[in-house]
This record gives sequence, structure tokens and C-alpha cells, in this order.
Amino acid sequence: MSMLGLKIDVDTYWGMKKGVPCLLQTLKEFNLKGTFFLSIGPDNSGRAILQLIKNTLFLKKMMRTNAPALYGWKTALYGTLLPAPMIALSFPQIVRDIIAAGHEVQFHAWDHRRWQDELSGKSEKWIREWFDKGMSGFEKLTGKKPSAFGAPSWLIDDRVLSIINEYKFDYLSCTRAKAPFIHDAINILEIPSDLPCFEEIDAQNSVSIIYDLLKDSKTHVLPVHAEVEGGIFQNQFRNLLEKALNTNIEVVPLKTIKDKLDIKTVPARKCKMELLPGRHSPCAV
Ligand SMILES: [Zn+2]
Repeated sequence: MSMLGLKIDVDTYWGMKKGVPCLLQTLKEFNLKGTFFLSIGPDNSGRAILQLIKNTLFLKKMMRTNAPALYGWKTALYGTLLPAPMIALSFPQIVRDIIAAGHEVQFHAWDHRRWQDELSGKSEKWIREWFDKGMSGFEKLTGKKPSAFGAPSWLIDDRVLSIINEYKFDYLSCTRAKAPFIHDAINILEIPSDLPCFEEIDAQNSVSIIYDLLKDSKTHVLPVHAEVEGGIFQNQFRNLLEKALNTNIEVVPLKTIKDKLDIKTVPARKCKMELLPGRHSPCAV
């Protein structure tokens, strides 16, 4: 049977507060489990305004996805005019609710925004501190260490991989590659998000575009964002889940995909960066 993995990223304070409870409700109604990748620390989303001025592709994406409606105006000011609130650390009860509902919970970020905008200019020391703060916040919230990491904006480099290697993750979900592979430098399994995000494709036809990609009876991973599928795209998300279930596609958390993979058949290679359609900056593939 073909499988659809749900990789649910929580990137912002708004996404944690409003998007996650909405997604938990949807998944409960359909009796499905997914993997939540949590941003633990400060929501510096307002810093995106600086990016908006610097990057016209980003501006286009913001306009196309109607970002103010997506994230709310306050989100646009966090870390600039308003102080940056903590994301998962502000909502320990919601973290407990995710776990109590039987979903997988993993580590996505300490400061999502700064990684996304500033990683290449940051020192190894900064990356190491980012992991230390995020991992200890995760442990404080869940009582255990994460067994997987999904990099913000699918952005990684060689320094990140070597630091990741120190944390003994069971798997990574850091790329937009088409199929699982082993990161050859560190010998860790990658389970990529191979499908497009809702906000990257034509909003009118998003459900049928993604559903068409699912029909080849292979295993796929859908990148979901609490801010999107737990917000303005919630009906499209429900619609897609309904279609998948009606065609006997098994909807699963990423650890189920990992457990069912025959690791001997997974190729080992390096990842590279590529600008994918609908995105404003390159992703690892
Ligand atoms: Zn993210």
C-alpha cells in the first residue's frame, strides 16, 4: 500500500497557538497521525520585512500567498517593533496535547527566522549554540531528546551536517529531494519532503495537483505548515486527506516510513542546493 507521510512544521508563535490546535482537530476527525517538527525559541518573523525589501522573489511569494492574512499582522512585527515571543516554549500544554494524541514530535528550530535568513553568515559557534538551546528546550517540553531534525527552510550546509552528527539522530528530514537517501558524510537517513507545499502552487488547483502526484502508489511526504494547513488552507488540506483515504493511501508519521524502509536499498550521496518552483531561496535536494 502506498504511504503519505505528514511532515508538519511549526514555524511561528501564531502557528503554535492557533494552527496546531486546528490541525490536531482535523487529524483527530480523520483518525490520522503525523510528525510535528517544532520551533522551540523566539519568533523573529518580523525580520522578514528586512528580507522583503532585499529580495523581490520573496516579495512575490508574500503577495501571492497573501502573507498578512496567512500569519496575521502581529507576526509581521515580531522581533522588530514587538518583542519576539517564544514559540513552543510559550505553549507547553499544546506540546502535551500533540503527544497525548499519539503524534510524533521532533525538532525543527530554535530561532527559525534567523537560521533561514542568516545561516550562511553565522559561525560554527552560533550554529552549535542554536542547537544547544533548541535541544534543551525540546527536552524540557517533552521530557526526552528528539530522534529527528528537520532544518528550517530545508537549509543545511557541511558545518550543520557535522554538528548534527554529534546528536545521534535516527533520521533527518532536511531536504526536498525526490526520494530517501543517506547523507554520505555522516551516514544518516534522510526522509525528504518530495511533494510541493500548498503555498508553492496554484491555490485554485492545489488539491488536485498534489493528489495527482500521490497516485503513483509510491511513498510520499507532504510538507505541511501549521500556519497554512492549520489556517487559511485548512479546507484544502481536509479535502486532500479525504481523497487520499478514499484511495487507500495510508497516511502516516515519518517514523513509520523510516521503519518500513529497506535501508540496504537506500542510496548514499551528498545533497545540493536548488531553487524549486514557488520558493524564494534554494533548498537542499
Ligand atoms: Zn519551518
